[in-house]
Amino acid sequence: MVKRKANVNIERCVACGVCALQCPRQAISIHRGCYAAIEESICVGCGLCERACPASAIELKERELVND
Ligand code: SF4
Ligand code: SF4
Repeated sequence: MVKRKANVNIERCVACGVCALQCPRQAISIHRGCYAAIEESICVGCGLCERACPASAIELKERELVND
């Protein structure tokens, strides 16, 4: 099954945490204060984080998921 999942470009991410506040599933955490990390198994691909990110560091990508 193909599902959309959020992806973080860690080169662009400034670890502001805005995306984590927006996520309705709490799928995002700030890894060691350095960049946003997405828990893909929780992400539902809503796109709120992508729209909220001031650094345009998040992009939704389609993923082929084997066990889903
Ligand atoms: S796409 Fe939605 S569910 Fe997935 S990490 Fe972003 S805000 Fe959370
Ligand atoms: S909103 Fe963008 S810049 Fe801020 S932590 Fe999330 S991905 Fe990084």
